[in-house]
Amino acid sequence: RHLDRIAEVDDRVHAFLHVDAEGALLQAAESDARRARGEARGPLDGVPIAVKDVLATRGLPTTCGSKILEGWVPPYDATVVERLRVAGLPILGKTNMDEFAMGSSTEHSAYGPTHNPWDLDRIPGGSGGGSAAAVASYEAPLAIGTDTGGSIRQPGAVTGTVGVKPTYGGVSRYGLVALANSLDQAGPVTRNVLDAAMLHDIIGGHDLRDSTSIKREWPSFTEAAREGAAGDLTGVKVGIVTEMSGDGWQPGVMNRFNESVELMVKAGAEVVEVSCPSFVHALAAYYLILPAEASSNLAKFDAMRFGLRVTPDGSPSAEDVMRASRDAGFGDEVKRRIILGTYALSSGYYDAYYGQAQKIRTLITRDFDAAFERVDVLVSPTAPTTAFKLGEKLDDPMAMYLNDLATIPANLSGVPGISIPNGLADEDSLPTGFQVLAPALADDRVYRVGAALE
Ligand code: GLN
Repeated sequence: RHLDRIAEVDDRVHAFLHVDAEGALLQAAESDARRARGEARGPLDGVPIAVKDVLATRGLPTTCGSKILEGWVPPYDATVVERLRVAGLPILGKTNMDEFAMGSSTEHSAYGPTHNPWDLDRIPGGSGGGSAAAVASYEAPLAIGTDTGGSIRQPGAVTGTVGVKPTYGGVSRYGLVALANSLDQAGPVTRNVLDAAMLHDIIGGHDLRDSTSIKREWPSFTEAAREGAAGDLTGVKVGIVTEMSGDGWQPGVMNRFNESVELMVKAGAEVVEVSCPSFVHALAAYYLILPAEASSNLAKFDAMRFGLRVTPDGSPSAEDVMRASRDAGFGDEVKRRIILGTYALSSGYYDAYYGQAQKIRTLITRDFDAAFERVDVLVSPTAPTTAFKLGEKLDDPMAMYLNDLATIPANLSGVPGISIPNGLADEDSLPTGFQVLAPALADDRVYRVGAALE
């Protein structure tokens, strides 16, 4: 059915870069056989899933939305993908994304934009717009995204889907093509909180192949979501982040946000306002740290080992080949960030930019620590506006970056967050998202509170 749906709508939505109909049907048949024998591997055995094209999939192309990786077929699975296979989820295909996960609209994909199923002239958010659109358009019941500065939560907000960024280190990054190693985290994209929790239970947990993976026993997120679904928030202390609303926030988004807060009060929560003063510097710090890490990560795409190779005429040197390949293979946004990042890391500028940004990062973590001494969860609208028109912000990087205002602090500090749909904005009848943030390791709390609000 999902493959039929993809055939029916994906020429208009363009959520997928690659569909593996044959592989998915084969995995589904195997799952059917297991079920018939009473040997299902868990509740999601046989439930198909779409995977963002930044995760390595054995035998399936993995492009990261870039021309430079066109035609690359990884010989191995990312840990997240391996765990999906072990749990019996058929992989429908790979979803579209901003090139190397840089963007908030999926317009920076080298393979053309994804369209928001709610209004095909609008963006589906980014960088994981493909995963969010696939779920929102019923092409896939579940998807995997990655969130470095909001790329699971912001697409969730503008497509009316649920998106979770786990605690940094909660889900293995092995096989996730790194954008910024200290910020990246893979997580669930679904239509409801329980589905996200079930998926998180499958993909999460310690992995020896990722040195930043946290070694601990995690509670069952499925159970947390089931408990939360009773809707009782008695005794839960909720903080509204002062710095995550105000000027520039769409009134209709704020209206839905305020209604959701009222619902929390009705459900028994105690709500206070909490100021996190360093959050106003989060965007500036992020857009130094991220390009710095990205410029260093992207140095490996040198046309020598994998991906695109352009050989200029004459008798080119290896350096000529690298230059021509990187020039042809990377898009404008990627080049912009490589230049920014290389500059920020240059000797003489390192302390003034990268060093300063790292200090802000520490201050943001202190703000979170202080806030979580007073409250159990922090809440905000996930994104300042609903889905904007395709092309509207493409030539204005600053306007594009501002979409991430509310999502970035969580990545800089490593704390978990969820975005859940909370209605449609008055102005344009487009989906809005409600963000719940919890202290590091307390991912169960985002599921419990998220499920209570559904
Ligand atoms: N929009 C952010 C950026 O462009 C988020 C990226 C992400 O989470 N992958 O960097």
